[in-house]
Amino acid sequence: MPSAAELLAWYDRHRRILPWRAGPGQARDPYRIWLSEVMLQQTTVAAVGPRYARFLDRFPTVAALAAAEWAEVAEEWAGLGYYARARNLHACARAVVAAGGDFPRDTAGLEALPGIGRYTASAVGAIAFDAPVVPVDGNVERVTARLAAIEDPLPGAKPRLTALAAGFMADPAARARPGDFAQALFDLGATVCTPRSPACALCPWCAGCMARRMGIAADLPRKSPKAARPLRHGAHFLLIDAQGRILLRRRAEKGLLGGMLEIPGTPWRAGRWDAAEALDHAPAAAPWRAVPGMARHGFTHFELEMVLFTAALPQGVMPEGEWQRPDAARAALPSVMRRLIDLAGRP
Ligand code: SF4
Repeated sequence: MPSAAELLAWYDRHRRILPWRAGPGQARDPYRIWLSEVMLQQTTVAAVGPRYARFLDRFPTVAALAAAEWAEVAEEWAGLGYYARARNLHACARAVVAAGGDFPRDTAGLEALPGIGRYTASAVGAIAFDAPVVPVDGNVERVTARLAAIEDPLPGAKPRLTALAAGFMADPAARARPGDFAQALFDLGATVCTPRSPACALCPWCAGCMARRMGIAADLPRKSPKAARPLRHGAHFLLIDAQGRILLRRRAEKGLLGGMLEIPGTPWRAGRWDAAEALDHAPAAAPWRAVPGMARHGFTHFELEMVLFTAALPQGVMPEGEWQRPDAARAALPSVMRRLIDLAGRP
């Protein structure tokens, strides 16, 4: 195993300045660390930065988040994807507040909270409370696979890489600073041991790295070929009233995008919808017109193709739902629905 002290010395010189990261000697706020970890699971550091700041402005403490209505949290999360995560975030804040307002300091207590899995519990435990664990994200997997030249492909190699990463804690230097050590591994993976072209000459672990010695660093970790995601189809209906507002409705609480606003539409299914069949799901009888083209959105487990119909609200028709101006709707709608607004606005 390479020396933890060498990596920590490198980290002390080259650590990234990140909005959620406490500087040396500064107090660490578990709420901020937990929030950043949840946000970073679905998007990049660069994209999370402004959204993180905005979220904290609105919900500065775990108590403020717990006290908020779900609709407010959903609105602030719009565009960040994976709404189940936002729901769990809200539920977790409420569970923490119900238990007295402090996050548990150990990984078992953290993992018992809604939406906190093994990785997040390890990351928050290590970074906020110096729990002696190594959180294994994609960066840590890559660094570990390269150091030990593990050629088995992911995801099968995960348990082996996790066990190897846990071995770092046998080093007293890592055990003395688990939070810094975890963040040093993250930074090494993000800035030096990068996916396509690792900068081995700048790496504090260069001398002991097996993959570098074998000349296969850039090829690791190997990955099993991905199964193609199935394609589903939907048809949606953009109804516009005399004031230029559009009709939205709220999705069912349970399931994909639960409780989020949407542009009314058909269920999403494997087969395409022909117009007559789709119009049975329209929110109102109106002179519907098909918009040319289609919108596409990728979910984790499937791809979605959507066609769009638009119509002006006929007089005397009062469909169920809520009316919003397009700019307000855009802010409140999940990304998948924004693609429909983009499609409607295309010249
Ligand atoms: S020597 Fe190269 S491949 Fe090995 S850990 Fe460092 S950057 Fe990654």
